[in-house]
Amino acid sequence: MVFQFFKSSYAKVKSALSRTRSFFGETLGHLFQRPINEETLEQLEKLLYEADFGVKTAQELTEKIRKLHRTNPSSQTGDYLKLLRDDLTTILTQYPSELVSIPQEQLPLVILVVGVNGNGKTTTLAKLANMFHLSGKKTLVGAADTFRAAAIEQLDTWAKRANVDIVKGMPNSDPAAVAFDAVYAGKSRGCDVVLVDTAGRLHNKIPLMQELAKICRSCQKASGSGPHETLLVLDATTGQNAIEQAKQFHKFTPITGLVLTKLDGTAKGGIIVAIQRELAIPVKFIGTGEGLDDLQPFDAKSFVDNLFEAN
Ligand code: GDP
Ligand code: MG
Repeated sequence: MVFQFFKSSYAKVKSALSRTRSFFGETLGHLFQRPINEETLEQLEKLLYEADFGVKTAQELTEKIRKLHRTNPSSQTGDYLKLLRDDLTTILTQYPSELVSIPQEQLPLVILVVGVNGNGKTTTLAKLANMFHLSGKKTLVGAADTFRAAAIEQLDTWAKRANVDIVKGMPNSDPAAVAFDAVYAGKSRGCDVVLVDTAGRLHNKIPLMQELAKICRSCQKASGSGPHETLLVLDATTGQNAIEQAKQFHKFTPITGLVLTKLDGTAKGGIIVAIQRELAIPVKFIGTGEGLDDLQPFDAKSFVDNLFEAN
């Protein structure tokens, strides 16, 4: 079954990127109004670095602008901006950002949501459940964050709001057992999608990371083929630290996609480019706010267009 039916809303992405756009996009426009020389190039590299594009991208893009200026000194502002735009689009379209497709007989699509505490896992899971439900998919959520009773209640509230079924365990019960029950229930009830929430864990706490691997095996046992997607939720405002988190999680549970939350709260939206380059794992969704409909499928073109719209 194909799950590529979600459309990105330009207006939502635009609003979420407003801080990055006014910090990065507008400064860039002003920068290229001036003659290109060592000073402007240095400022460009600094700007790319400060917007969290990562050292490698900052250096490479600056070098390309230097080269363009050298080979074609009459280049205009628009030519420099186009070079940056095209290059960023190339980096961001290297990996497919759609959810995986699975054959009908393997349904439900099992999506495991993992990450560090407070990154936005539960909220993202609820937003996803809402998206699936609104597009006519029978959806169930599993509350496998059993660490705190409040976490189960939080998901319960979201499930009611999104109008989807929930399977939960008792506080402090084995999260792997809850994950198994949720996937199993999803299968028996003929669901199209099961989303499994997990407790936040620090990527450097080995026993907790091993527990995650166990939850993953439970999903596999109950589903026969899943989890089909393991989405790592990263907080865009944590900057380069997000890359380290992703590397550690990936070691214990192969990550199939990233969700970058809280883009609306940062001027450093360039982190998407750094993450995508460093990890070679696609960004599949971006969080654009705290509401149920504040999640957008990641679309490279709309992301880049929105960054540069000020120009
Ligand atoms: P968890 O511990 O990873 O499950 O994180 P939660 O889902 O409980 O979210 C932690 C906080 O981040 C909550 O206050 C959410 O409303 C907030 N949050 C999550 N995603 C976003 C987002 O995309 N934008 C903003 N502004 N806040 C978000
Ligand atoms: Mg949570």
